[in-house]
Amino acid sequence: MTPAAAIPFFRSPVRDDPEMLAHMTRACADVLRSGVYVLGPQVHAFEASLSAMHDGREVVAVNSGSDALCLALATLGVGTLGGGGADDEVILPAYTFVACAEAVLAAGARPVFVDCATSGFLPSLEAHHAARGERTRAVLAVGLFGDASALPALAAYCRQKGLWLVEDIAQCFGASSTAPDGTTRLAGTWGDAAAMSFYPTKTLGAAGDAGALAFADARHARQARLLRNHGHEGNEHLCLGRNSRMDELQAALLHIALAAFPQALARRREIAARYLAAWTALPGLTLPHDHAGHAWNYFVVTLGARAQRDALADALAKEGVATRVYYPAPLQHHRALAPLHDGRALPRSEHLAQCSLALPLYPALNDDDINRIIDVLPVALGHATRAAATPAGAAP
Ligand SMILES: *Cc1c(COP(=O)(O)O)cnc(C)c1O
Repeated sequence: MTPAAAIPFFRSPVRDDPEMLAHMTRACADVLRSGVYVLGPQVHAFEASLSAMHDGREVVAVNSGSDALCLALATLGVGTLGGGGADDEVILPAYTFVACAEAVLAAGARPVFVDCATSGFLPSLEAHHAARGERTRAVLAVGLFGDASALPALAAYCRQKGLWLVEDIAQCFGASSTAPDGTTRLAGTWGDAAAMSFYPTKTLGAAGDAGALAFADARHARQARLLRNHGHEGNEHLCLGRNSRMDELQAALLHIALAAFPQALARRREIAARYLAAWTALPGLTLPHDHAGHAWNYFVVTLGARAQRDALADALAKEGVATRVYYPAPLQHHRALAPLHDGRALPRSEHLAQCSLALPLYPALNDDDINRIIDVLPVALGHATRAAATPAGAAP
């Protein structure tokens, strides 16, 4: 019997979809023939579609999610880049991608890290409240792994306290959440500004780097348009900015992917539901919370200890199932960020960095892949639990 092919951690949906591939290839040829390669009609059309999706909020396409975060803060006047103060503070999770902290620093503001709640991956409202000080200007809310459930409460909190809310929807593009009054809205429409990333592994992925901003206030969108293109408007440079323009090629490809996004998102949710149903009672394994509206960018399980997490990753690799650790260190442990941390204990973020493991979940997984992952996980978990319990050097 030939062994089944290995299941990678991520595979582009285009590879297995000849129709989409042909469509995208034609679109690329059209752009190449047009001779307009940057901030042209493709970008404008893509911005308009993103805007329609996000309650008509004005959308500004940029060249990465990282830039989107930094320009969101600068546009709102948080940090020196946007004319704010060098001691402006932005509250953000300790357990997230490093780009979040980089963006705060690049905007010329100070990051203040908050710990995850005792259950799940997101910080609680109470943690934000405890971290808030006189200099707090903004909250950076990250819809980690696709979970947008914290946004309604944070939006209400920020309104009440007069703080800007910047949503990092890099991982929860397309997710929705419901406020206590029953209104359900998409991620990106709760705060003052939202930053999107279209890095290939995100829920809407480009064939390269791209990002976008959405704003509640059209004046902010105008400012962000200036900032992404050297402050340029008409024949003048009205302010200093940078080059964060989106390519026509990426916009054309993303626009095609956006049309297929509802099916891709439905497929992610279907796969997550199958994993959650199959693995309910596995000892030693904590499954991610299944919030309504979750976009399931990543399916992240948590083990009891680091040795068990690493042993599970090894056992799955032996079975041909690739995994990844998001994130191996909380932000306060990064060499470049540790000196900025105020020293408050953030134990949950440390625990999760040691014990969490992301399993493959993406629309290009076929039913055979999914069934194999479902069958292999409990077996690998058994091996991992035994391996982690066996002292090094002892007979197995
Ligand atoms: C991917 C990501 C970013 C950065 O996006 P890029 O497009 O890669 O620059 C920011 N925040 C989070 C949470 C992300 O996952």
